[in-house]
Amino acid sequence: MGSTRHDQNIARLLDEGVVTEQPNGLDWPAATSLDSRAAREILRETAAGLYCVPGDFYVDPWEPVARAVVTHAHSDHARGGCGTYLSARAGRAILQMRLGSAASYQFVDYGEVLTIGGVRLSLHPAGHMTGAAQVRLEYAGYVIVITGDFKRQADPTCATFEPLRCHTLVTESTFGLPIYRWPEPDGIFDEINAWWRTNQQEGRTSLLLGYTVGKAQRLLAGIDASIGPVFAHGGVVQANQAYEACGVTLPQVRGIAEVPPRFTWSEALIVAPPSVQGSPWLRRFGDVSMGMASGWMQIRGICRRRNLDRGFVISDHVDWQGLLATVQETSAEEVWVTHGYTQAVARYLAERGLRTAILKTQYVGELDAADAEEAASSPTEERA
Ligand SMILES: [Zn+2]
Ligand SMILES: [Zn+2]
Repeated sequence: MGSTRHDQNIARLLDEGVVTEQPNGLDWPAATSLDSRAAREILRETAAGLYCVPGDFYVDPWEPVARAVVTHAHSDHARGGCGTYLSARAGRAILQMRLGSAASYQFVDYGEVLTIGGVRLSLHPAGHMTGAAQVRLEYAGYVIVITGDFKRQADPTCATFEPLRCHTLVTESTFGLPIYRWPEPDGIFDEINAWWRTNQQEGRTSLLLGYTVGKAQRLLAGIDASIGPVFAHGGVVQANQAYEACGVTLPQVRGIAEVPPRFTWSEALIVAPPSVQGSPWLRRFGDVSMGMASGWMQIRGICRRRNLDRGFVISDHVDWQGLLATVQETSAEEVWVTHGYTQAVARYLAERGLRTAILKTQYVGELDAADAEEAASSPTEERA
């Protein structure tokens, strides 16, 4: 494991004491004599992903397997080609949009318990997007919870994260550094609405960039649609239909093709994925003010680097404080960390007496983070 610039950044944060700052009111459980063999007899890292040994199924596998439990419909968690998919009923239409109607599915309600090979399995809200679930596994009295992607902030498009007690917690750490601290979403939506009004007055089209599935719908549910007409990119329109089939209420949103002739674009808000930036698709809108909604917008200088007029700090992943509070609420004695700033989070928790492990993911790469919040990639990517 070579020392990268990222490792050095983490080391510097630790040296400066930033990462050792204890959040208010948290009590860490004392380490016990239980060792990590208990968890590893139930759940293992394999080449195809996390594998439940007694249950003979995988959780969010990245290769085709016979039985997959899928936490949510994002493409880095829901891969095609598996024999059967078990997932939360709340996200049914979205998963089927992603994987197609020909795949074999089993949908369960949140909290419903299935017994598979002696493993009691249940899915619980993760607060990340519609249908997103944590996976709770209980075997011979030992409880493991896999968060999948999750957040603790309010989101009208999905059920609120449910804290679960467990022995071992498997958590994501996409934004697991103290610099990531999310402002209240209400205040951010006020900023977006004010930006849209100002653009109308100044004759510029408001283009708001956000991930197609999940983020776009959260944005649409949060804006004040009485300000003006709302349009969306085709991919967002399609995802909206799946969301509505899942019972999520969204404002009236039109596709670009439905525009009347001689339309004044500067009245409108358009929601589109980051991939449209710099594409010919944008030309029709005239003078555009481009904003992006992502946790990465908290990084200083990112708007200039990304040629954005505005950055709005809205993430569907947990921030640093939320992550630590969640670990504490679970009472876990052991934490496996995956996706993102794994080393910083594992080191912080280990210093508080928890057993930790870092899970490898397949998604570490060179992707530009602002394009793909869901790819768990960041501007200071880990290359461990
Ligand atoms: Zn996700
Ligand atoms: Zn993810």
